[in-house]
Amino acid sequence: MILDDYFARLETEHQAEVERGEHDLQCEWRPRQCMCHCSKRRREAAGHTEPPELDWQAPLCTRCWNETESDADGYTCDTCSAFWNHDGTFGHFTDDYGELTPRPIIDVQLPPLPEEVHA
Ligand SMILES: [Zn+2]
Ligand SMILES: [Zn+2]
Repeated sequence: MILDDYFARLETEHQAEVERGEHDLQCEWRPRQCMCHCSKRRREAAGHTEPPELDWQAPLCTRCWNETESDADGYTCDTCSAFWNHDGTFGHFTDDYGELTPRPIIDVQLPPLPEEVHA
């Protein structure tokens, strides 16, 4: 019978677990009641009585493989100076400001900024 094969397989697996030391002397495991609290007792003895919190990872940048920083607008990789929308689209660099006025070749003495006057 298929069910007998199923329980026979579970018993074989259980025997392997016993040989690996995964069951204690209070083990409740019986054929056809293939459950016990050995794992629970081991976990609680280690002090784990509450389910752990999940740490949701932000997507990884595929250039540096660092986790991106996320906020309401999207994802940023500071290492690569890159930004993406929250759905991963519209990737662009954050250090590209388009057309900037180049510094003049001849050094022009500019008047001091207001805060430098009082320094
Ligand atoms: Zn057990
Ligand atoms: Zn990166």
